[in-house]
Amino acid sequence: MHLYLPSPLQEVTYRTDGKEYTFCVKRDDLIHPDISGNKWRKLNRNMEKARESGKNTILTIGGAFSNHIRATVAVTKMVAMNSIGVIRGEELNNYSNENLSFASEQGMKLYFVSRDFYSKRYETGFEKMLMDKLGLSSEEIYYVPEGGANNEGAEGCGEIIRELNSDFDYLITACGTGTTFAGLLNATSKGKEVIGVSVLKDSATIHQKIIELSSKDYLLMEDYHFGGYAKTAQDLKNFIHDFQTQTDIPLDYVYTGKMFYGVIDLLKRDYFESGSKIIALHTGGVANAGVV
Ligand SMILES: *Cc1c(COP(=O)(O)O)cnc(C)c1O
Repeated sequence: MHLYLPSPLQEVTYRTDGKEYTFCVKRDDLIHPDISGNKWRKLNRNMEKARESGKNTILTIGGAFSNHIRATVAVTKMVAMNSIGVIRGEELNNYSNENLSFASEQGMKLYFVSRDFYSKRYETGFEKMLMDKLGLSSEEIYYVPEGGANNEGAEGCGEIIRELNSDFDYLITACGTGTTFAGLLNATSKGKEVIGVSVLKDSATIHQKIIELSSKDYLLMEDYHFGGYAKTAQDLKNFIHDFQTQTDIPLDYVYTGKMFYGVIDLLKRDYFESGSKIIALHTGGVANAGVV
């Protein structure tokens, strides 16, 4: 299986209201068809760490439609490791959606837990509780938290900055857990601005995650969530359609649509210093856009 790395950097021009906006897009969406770009970045270091500690099985958790579950299946398969997925919602154990049947077909062992149990995922000791519940041993199995949201996940995203040779003034990314954003912040040198765009209505968990994974100052834009996770609006749908028509770059309405909408809004409002190099990070996720 081939990975398109380093991912390409593409210049785009978007026209709206009689004006033209030109900026660059880091195409992590092209890294792999089944692996949402930033999920590859976040899993990469975790795989290495698992290997280093002599573990050949990855255990992770996610929602039924999660890009992270899909990516974990594809990545572990690629490096000949085993994977176990714990899915939120006991009622789903008939594998009734395409994401889960894909995971299962590709060899992921699936377990289904109640929403109540799943909601404990941020508690300390959750990893042990989960291993105990499933009768697994942490000596053999490496745990990756939901969305790859750990130090190794953030570290892997630092690779994006190295691929860009730090050649930008502004870099903008979508934030679900905030791990990608934290990793970019950590790898970026002074004088350059990394901006996060929240896709959640309540960004408290994102702030928490950034503070946990990075000690840098940061700027999180919280006005582009369109009502919350996976919520959309006609305005957003129109923008996604228009953007794809003009640039041939597909966006999803869960993550990248909102982020690019934010980038264009900031450009319209002259937020960026003129003449600066602006890069929007396309984190991927489009293959699943229809089912979220
Ligand atoms: C998971 C995902 C994100 C969110 O990344 P975080 O590191 O959790 O903030 C952004 N974009 C896409 C396409 C994703 O699949």
